[in-house]
Amino acid sequence: MTTSNSPLDVIIIGAGISGLSTAIALRRIGHNVKIYERSNLKNELGAAIHISPNASRILLSWDFDVKRARFVKAMKTYIASGNTLQKFYEGSYDHVEPTYGAAWYLSHRVDLHEELKRLATTSEGPGKPAVIIPNSKVDDYDVEAGTITLSNSEVHKADLIVAADGVHSQATKHILGSLQYPEHTGQSAFRFLIPTADIIADPETADFVKDDDGRFKVFTGVRGNRIVWYPCRNNEEQNFAAIFHEDTSETKEDWDASVSGEKLLEEYQDFHPAILAVFRKAKSVKKWPLLFREPLPAWYKSKLVLVGDAAHPMLPHQGQAGAQAIEDSVALGVVLNGVTKTELQNDPNALAKRLELYQTIRRRRAAAMQIFSNFGQDQGDKCAEAVKPYHDGPIPMNPAEFIVYNFSYNVKDHSEQALKDAKL
Ligand SMILES: Cc1cc2nc3c(=O)[nH]c(=O)nc-3n(C[C@H](O)[C@H](O)[C@H](O)COP(=O)(O)OP(=O)(O)OC[C@H]3O[C@@H](n4cnc5c(N)ncnc54)[C@H](O)[C@@H]3O)c2cc1C
Repeated sequence: MTTSNSPLDVIIIGAGISGLSTAIALRRIGHNVKIYERSNLKNELGAAIHISPNASRILLSWDFDVKRARFVKAMKTYIASGNTLQKFYEGSYDHVEPTYGAAWYLSHRVDLHEELKRLATTSEGPGKPAVIIPNSKVDDYDVEAGTITLSNSEVHKADLIVAADGVHSQATKHILGSLQYPEHTGQSAFRFLIPTADIIADPETADFVKDDDGRFKVFTGVRGNRIVWYPCRNNEEQNFAAIFHEDTSETKEDWDASVSGEKLLEEYQDFHPAILAVFRKAKSVKKWPLLFREPLPAWYKSKLVLVGDAAHPMLPHQGQAGAQAIEDSVALGVVLNGVTKTELQNDPNALAKRLELYQTIRRRRAAAMQIFSNFGQDQGDKCAEAVKPYHDGPIPMNPAEFIVYNFSYNVKDHSEQALKDAKL
């Protein structure tokens, strides 16, 4: 039976990384969660994704099973010339886990997604299981009434609607009044996976993956091309993002857009023959135009709030898109902890105060990360001006400084302190 002291009914739009993380955070504090997802959730896509300590710390606190998800711990790195293979930087990540309280993991997006889905919907653990309703596309929102309308015309109502509908969010226009359009950065990325066994089987390429557990590699080229290469799935798959200059008017990312392997080889023709031998093993190559969006001025209106890519789409250069989505879920969980229907009925501003606090906690950090993510970790100087409105203190300038900036942030501590200070 629903009483006015009941926890909130929350509808989440989208069962991606942010929708599922938010479902976990909110079910754990007792709210009733339903997720409407437009796909059938049977053909999850994507390649590998970073789960850095600022996010893995959170997953571990939720009893996320890294073994089941076949995560790989990032252990070491090198940066080398893509033309000569000469290494100009080698480093170890041995210090990461003891320093930041959790490891830096490399995951296949599908494996991360599966384990989050299990945690959101399992009958074990705190709170009631979230319910996922697949094949349910949301076509419209009424932010004042707290309703959504599905493409089959069904209307559903909740105390709070969380839009986790990704980079092409339609929910944002109900907050901002219009959709936000992206700009192309002049760069695109080829993305593909190659089984480690295929690379080992070829004497020309085997050395790349020998003694290579958890190695994160970067190969740079003279024309600005850059390969980011790391393992996932228990080191059984090698993940590649090969960034290159492209003049294009494309204004929509499509994670599933295929291109021919010939195009990849053409763009990287000046790279070392051993790298090209690796590239020839790719059976399916996707191309992702790297589009930039300015930070949004607002993340909520009335009963609708944004999380994940809907709030802060970002490029892959910092490897933080998934981590920022997970941070959002924790902040929302902290500000909504203990909120009941009674509180919302007694104070018409109660929800707005909570969502304003969530936005205050999250927007500056996520906006700074959006801007830092436009450049490599050795290019902090290129975004120093743009990031100023969102960042206090010195700008990180190299990979070591970005590791400190990205990994040391603790969203739970920050959110709990902000809630205490706000005296809500
Ligand atoms: C197919 C795909 C592949 C990806 N691959 C990678 C990768 O390889 N590496 C990487 O670093 N990042 C990848 N990403 C991005 C990464 O997952 C996100 O940056 C990050 O995890 C935050 O995601 P999100 O949950 O906010 O959004 P998304 O992951 O985009 O999830 C949004 C969800 O909302 C659903 N949805 C959208 N509109 C509606 C609607 N109207 N009604 C109902 N449901 C809706 C979508 O179907 C989707 O499931 C991928 C994203 C997608 C969608």
